[in-house]
Formats: sequence, C-alpha cells, structure tokens
Amino acid sequence: MKRIEMIVPCYNEEPCIVPLYEAVEKVFALIKDYDWSLLYINDGSSDGTLAELKKLKADKGERVQYISFARNFGKESAIYAGLKNSTGELVVLMDADLQHPPELIPQMIEGIEEGYDCCGARRVSRKGEPIIRSAFSRMFYSTINHMTEMRLVQGGSDFRCMTRQMVDSILLLTERERFSKGIMSWVGFETKWIPYENVERLAGKSKWNFFGLVRYALSGFIAFATAPLRAMIYFGSVIVAAAVVYAVYLVYNAIRYPENNGSGFGTIVLLILFFGGVLVTLLGIIGEYVARIYMELKHRPIYIEKINTTKKQEKDS
Ligand code: UDP
Ligand code: MG
Repeated sequence: MKRIEMIVPCYNEEPCIVPLYEAVEKVFALIKDYDWSLLYINDGSSDGTLAELKKLKADKGERVQYISFARNFGKESAIYAGLKNSTGELVVLMDADLQHPPELIPQMIEGIEEGYDCCGARRVSRKGEPIIRSAFSRMFYSTINHMTEMRLVQGGSDFRCMTRQMVDSILLLTERERFSKGIMSWVGFETKWIPYENVERLAGKSKWNFFGLVRYALSGFIAFATAPLRAMIYFGSVIVAAAVVYAVYLVYNAIRYPENNGSGFGTIVLLILFFGGVLVTLLGIIGEYVARIYMELKHRPIYIEKINTTKKQEKDS
C-alpha cells in the first residue's frame, strides 16, 4: 500500500484543525489503495491550535502527526519543516482553512498516476477576494514571468500533490530565504494543473495583510531576479551615451557661435550627466556581482536528475 501524507501549515487555525481532518477523512473513505496521514505544522500559534492538535492526535493516533514551532516562523518555514519531516511516497501541501478543497486530492492522485511528478490546483476565479489584491497579484505574476527565468502559472497555488522524488529535490535547495512557488518551478519536473474555484476560508481571517503580501512578492522577486540590476547597467549606459551626444553638440556650438561661449553652463550639465551615467553603470556592474554572490551563496544543486521514467514519458516515446 502506498503512503500519502498531507502537510498542513497552521497559524492560529484552532477552528479549522478538526474540520480539515474530517474533510480529508471523508475523501479517503473512497480511496482504498492509499494509506493516508496528516502532518500539521503548528507555526507558533497563539490560540488553541496546539491543544486541538494534541486532542486530535490522542483521538486518531497514527493518522495525525504534528510539529510545533517555538514561535511564528512563517508559512515558508512551515512548508520546509513539513517536507523535511515527510516520509510518504506522495506528499500533498495544503492550507488548514479548507480554501484548498480536499475533494481535489483524488484528481491529483490520478494525475500522478498518469505519470506527472506534481499535480497542482490552479485558481481560475478570485471570487470573494478584494479587487486590489487580485490586481496586484496578477501584476506580480506577469512581472515575475517577464523579468526572471522562473515561470509561474497564473493562479497556481501551493496546493499540490508531489512525488517523493520531487519533494527530495525541493529539499536539496537549502536557501534560507525561501520562496516555495519559485523553488517548485525551479526544480523542474512535470506539473499538471487542475482548475478550481476560489473558496472562502472556513473560519478566522487571512494571515496576510496588504503589506505582508507586498513583502512576500518582493522577497520572491529579489530571490530570483537579477533583471533590475542589469537594467541599471543599460540605464547608466544610455545616460553616458546622451552625455557624449551632448558633448558633441557643445563643441559644435562653440565652433559655430564663438561669441555665445563663456557661461560654462553647458560644461557643468555635461559633467553632471556624464559622471551620473558612469556612476549608475558602475553600480549596475557591482550589483551584477552581488547578484552572482547571492546566487552562489544559495548552493543550489547544479542539476537534478530525474530517476523514475514516468508512465507518461514511456507513452510519449
Ligand atoms: N500560515 C502559517 N504561518 C503564517 C501564516 C500563515 O503557517 O505565518 C498558514 C495558515 O495557517 C494557512 C496557510 O498558511 O494554513 C495560508 O494562510 P492564509 O489562509 O492566511 O492565507 P491566504 O489563504 O489568505 O492566502
Ligand atoms: Mg487561506
């Protein structure tokens, strides 16, 4: 019998712990060939989450595991802890608030059995979400897809089912500043997307405020993008080029209208423009080195081997 493990980061999710268990239990009542369990990560909750987990564990035994953090370390840390402590052949990442409908799990398992390494849920509607938040989120996806090598799918959520091999590959990326969506796309493998409608959270409220999301987006961006630094080199070069053109114009003017010379105004503008441009270019070059140092520091694997030839590939070839 194969084992499938659900990883659930929880931060102040007291009212959701038991309903989530029940929803998952209901789904697996119909799936016979998988042995399932839930691994909750209590991310330093300040409400009764831990007490709920202890009660549930006492009640359900092996089906429920939990890890409890010393303080709130954030969802990314919770995801990492969950993946690191997981042992199942399949691992499902899901939110505690039932915004990731467990009813999709059977379809995800099917996707994996078809031969995909990962099967994720993609939100096709953002019903019930503030308009500004949706707009910013769209903007984030399109910028990141344009300016980095990462390809993120619009609406692609963290709600995914992955094979052991993919999980192990994700764990090879040991960087501290983690941006899971990017990491999951970076490791490669084949992902199948299942569309779903946005669901309102069961209880409590979202842990993200606007600025939290902006911070998250920025950190995702900085973790993967070197484009802004490169842009600085181009920008600086353009200014230097403009300074050169201006210098030519000044010389021409000085020869043509010698009587107008003497104020020195043009020379000052030229010097400011030229050295401004040089400085920006140099900053861009230094930035490029910093970006490389940053990427090197992450010690990402140089390549990831795909061990299992999946059924899908066999079919394709
Ligand atoms: N979460 C967490 N640590 C945090 C913030 C959130 O483990 O610091 C968990 C939270 O309990 C939930 C999931 O991450 O299971 C998604 O959070 P939330 O529902 O607040 O985000 P949203 O669905 O609004 O994007
Ligand atoms: Mg939520």
